[in-house]
Amino acid sequence: MTQEEVFKNLIAHAKEYGFIFPSSEIYDGLSAVYDYGQMGVEMKNNIKKYWWEAMVRLNDNIVGIDSSIFMHPRIWEASGHVGAFNDPLIDNKDSKKRYRADVLIEDYLAKLEEKMNKEVEKGKKKFGEAFNEEQFRATNPNVLRSKAKWDEVHGRMTEALNKNDLVELRQIIIDCEIACPISGTKNWTDVRQFNLMFSTQLGNISDEAGTIYLRPETAQGIFVNFLNVQKTGRMKIPFGIAQIGKAFRNEIVARQFIFRMREFEQMEMQFFVRPGDEMQWFAKWKQARLAWHKALGLGEEKYRFHDHEKLAHYANAATDIEFEFPFGFKELEGIHSRTNFDLSQHQKFSGRKMQYFDPETNESYVPYVIETSIGLDRTFLAILSTAYTEEKLEDGEERVVLKIPAAIAPVKMAVLPLIKKDGLPEKAHEIMNMLKIDFNCQYDEKDSIGKRYRRQDAIGTPFCITIDHDTLVDNCVTVRDRDTMKQERVPVGSLWTIMDKKVNVRELLKGLHEDTEI
Ligand code: ATP
Repeated sequence: MTQEEVFKNLIAHAKEYGFIFPSSEIYDGLSAVYDYGQMGVEMKNNIKKYWWEAMVRLNDNIVGIDSSIFMHPRIWEASGHVGAFNDPLIDNKDSKKRYRADVLIEDYLAKLEEKMNKEVEKGKKKFGEAFNEEQFRATNPNVLRSKAKWDEVHGRMTEALNKNDLVELRQIIIDCEIACPISGTKNWTDVRQFNLMFSTQLGNISDEAGTIYLRPETAQGIFVNFLNVQKTGRMKIPFGIAQIGKAFRNEIVARQFIFRMREFEQMEMQFFVRPGDEMQWFAKWKQARLAWHKALGLGEEKYRFHDHEKLAHYANAATDIEFEFPFGFKELEGIHSRTNFDLSQHQKFSGRKMQYFDPETNESYVPYVIETSIGLDRTFLAILSTAYTEEKLEDGEERVVLKIPAAIAPVKMAVLPLIKKDGLPEKAHEIMNMLKIDFNCQYDEKDSIGKRYRRQDAIGTPFCITIDHDTLVDNCVTVRDRDTMKQERVPVGSLWTIMDKKVNVRELLKGLHEDTEI
């Protein structure tokens, strides 16, 4: 089965077992918007808990907030989102399809590269051992022609993007004779700037003054509350403010399931430091965040850093933690050294001082910031796609099992009386009542025990606890492990302690605490 087919199966599985539903499905859905079902919401909450506790609980100098989605519109002018959070878009008049102009040109450049590589391959075949690629690329007329074209178009595109020259972007598309992949025609509209922020109107103010935005990131809610938190919490630099919340972006190319959505959730933390100390903190946070990911146990080889060579104008260092999704390595979290850009901008736009008085140096300054910004939904997808396993068992049977880390799994244990009579359900309820205060448990007495195990495998329940006739005599139960399918007899008296050690997020955090204390 190809990766693509497995990914399709995963999406179908996520729906069938109550993890993720397409939004508004009975109205044929809403593009790039999803709902989390009864299993999904539990798992999402567990991820949030793991992040929140690792940030806020384990670090004495980090506190959390929950700011609102609507904010004063001037905030988005100060942050640069009104002016610069734009994509240049163009429509094909025949197919009515909308594209990012720069992506169309980049696809054209990729085709030129492909053409050059093909020439090189041909040369390799022709000259065999004696082939010198460098010399071939420097002299072959076909390669040189394509290279000259590539350089010209790339140069024009970069300049047009830098100058925000939309007319020139369109002219490049015309000059290169780029056709719409759907209609095959070159019947293009003008290029327009398209802001990725959703806007709406405040109350009954219908003109521009009433325009407000759905936040495209949670970070600005932290920046504008910097002084409130610092003063009321008596925070001393270095310190951090963490927040989990919804963000909205009118993404043009929204695809790959919950990887790129129009409404999503972020877990962000801004760490305020003394100017000049930022590189040291940037390095620390890179390591701390990678350790957080690795502790989940999805496989160390699935993560890599991608350092940014081209930095945003306000950043002096930036890296992405990329994860190997079913469609390749893609950004999961961004770690940015944002200098004092945001606080200085808010100082300028609001007229309020955003300064900190440092009692150690007797100086006032606008702090520098290291940001860690991770997508909750992308983390969900990273875990779910790694956990999804189609297995052929020794007895020839097949099972689909979600090998979700126990601390993140939506249901921790299933409590299963072997049969529906002889006092077994009563005993099972007794055990269920003991466990359910601390753990999300499911009680199930329907169908054969084998079928019930499969149902729990399919939602990733790490442990099944079976109550049989012997239980009534020896007060022991059978605990079945989801991954190994091994069974073990355990006294009811020790059940809580054994389970707690295996499924509590505390165990993940303990390991983390030793490795990454900030
Ligand atoms: P990308 O390059 O993939 O569009 P980005 O660089 O714009 O992402 P940031 O602005 O750094 O992303 O946002 C921080 C994090 O928020 C990302 O690492 C990602 O996990 C998450 N994120 C951003 N956009 C989306 C989206 N449309 N859907 C889901 N998660 C998102």
